Amino acid sequence: MKTTITGGAGFIGSHLVEHLLAAGDEVTVLDNLSTGRLENLRSVIGHRKFHFVEGDILDKSAVDKVVSGSDRVFHLAAAVGVNLIVEHPLESLRTNIHGTEVVLDSVLEAGASLLLASTSEIYGKNASDSLSEEADRILGSALKSRWTYAAAKGIDEAFAHAYWREFGLRVAIVRLFNTVGPRQTGRYGMVVPRLVKQALTGQPLTVYGDGKQTRCFSYVGDIVPAITRISAESSAYGNAYNLGGSYEISILTLAERIVELLGSKSDISLVPYEQAYAEGYEDMRRRVPDNSKARQLVGFDPKTTLDEIIKNVAAEQRPPKTGDPVQWKVTMAIN
Ligand code: NAD
Repeated sequence: MKTTITGGAGFIGSHLVEHLLAAGDEVTVLDNLSTGRLENLRSVIGHRKFHFVEGDILDKSAVDKVVSGSDRVFHLAAAVGVNLIVEHPLESLRTNIHGTEVVLDSVLEAGASLLLASTSEIYGKNASDSLSEEADRILGSALKSRWTYAAAKGIDEAFAHAYWREFGLRVAIVRLFNTVGPRQTGRYGMVVPRLVKQALTGQPLTVYGDGKQTRCFSYVGDIVPAITRISAESSAYGNAYNLGGSYEISILTLAERIVELLGSKSDISLVPYEQAYAEGYEDMRRRVPDNSKARQLVGFDPKTTLDEIIKNVAAEQRPPKTGDPVQWKVTMAIN
């Protein structure tokens, strides 16, 4: 199988690269290294079936070159992270809307199949008990750049669906809910790596708002195999699948758990949203997935616990020293 991964030098993409090479695929990554890093691909550089192309998904000829001859494409390249989106709204919109359109066209021309990475953000402020794929989307003002990520990913899904319906493009969509694990960076607003780093360096853990907002975190080692299986199911074409963790936790409790688990002496400090982001920032109180559609299709059943996730993130940020009482090991599921 010849596979192309856009955004393959990023957090999730680099784990997907390793997973697919282990399965025997020939893998080509197209990435502009904006938030991704070659360092993420350290374990595969030099592999005879691995190829890396530095390029932008906005550049149609670059995308055509890597996609032609591919059997399947995973489209993960995107501007990701609240900080990045709020600070660079225009560039983010271009990447997340026009970039996806370019990829869709190239994949169609190449006759390949496509897996599109979407997000739970598209549900916006819908705080239902568990969000099914048909749930309503409740977004804030179109003038608040905070919502442009959700808006753009929603358009991407609509584009993908229309390419499937009108041109027969073999495309499936996954909606990822707060995926976490080693190589994720806290720089662009991702909460777990940021809090772990603060705990390990003795800084106060900064929790935004009242900290009672809840999320369901899932481990990249559970998500990558599920994405791969969904991409291989012809009944998935034209459909979207939630992929998220099943354990709901408030961000304040998460911070407390991180402090306790890592034996940190850090305090926890509540920071008003206006201080953390621009004025008028809106957060979601709750984000709980209904995973039953993916469970039915590919047996999706995330097993990694939150404690294991925290330990693995910490293990990467603080490689164990000799004599360290806790010798943590980064573990990744391969199948
Ligand atoms: P990431 O930032 O680590 O990965 C994105 C990658 O895309 C990076 O390597 C970056 O350099 C690359 N990229 C960005 N713009 C590009 C462009 N114009 N051309 C080529 N490459 C470009 O983020 P991630 O968390 O690994 O996210 C991967 C995908 O999963 C994204 O589509 C994201 O929207 C989706 N997603 C992630 C999460 C999560 O919790 N991590 C949740 C929902 C959805």
